[in-house]
Amino acid sequence: MNNIVLYKYFKKKIKKSRVLRHKKVYTNKIEDDIIRKFTIKSKETDCEYTYKLRKTRYQGHTYTHIYVEYNYLKWYYLGYYEKGRIKRKKGKFSETKSANAIAWVLRNTEKLIDISEKVEIYGLGLCSNCGHVLTDSNSIKLGIGPICKEHIITYD
Ligand SMILES: [Zn+2]
Repeated sequence: MNNIVLYKYFKKKIKKSRVLRHKKVYTNKIEDDIIRKFTIKSKETDCEYTYKLRKTRYQGHTYTHIYVEYNYLKWYYLGYYEKGRIKRKKGKFSETKSANAIAWVLRNTEKLIDISEKVEIYGLGLCSNCGHVLTDSNSIKLGIGPICKEHIITYD
């Protein structure tokens, strides 16, 4: 092992230990970490969004972080829910359609208002053919993903 290899080796080790230390601090801070995923479909507009909610407890405080799916199982962070709105860092609010929709749902849920006449809520499903996660409400209802559905139709 020459000095450069040794140097690289140590650098890697240092990096690794730093990451580990950081992780330890992180797990000490966060007491709870609950993740839920679901799709909400408006009965009026047929528009739908898939969300991932991550509840964390930090120093006795509960935060609800909200992510919206922008591509199959790819998530975009909208912000955290506070006082009926989705807040981002530096006091800014998320005001996109998907942010407003989930804020409205959570506001009503907090007040125990039944919203089943306005929206349908689906827990994510699994494709009965291949086991892939289903996020689209029609696929969840059918229990099969779009690709597998195509195959079954063509082979019939
Ligand atoms: Zn499938």
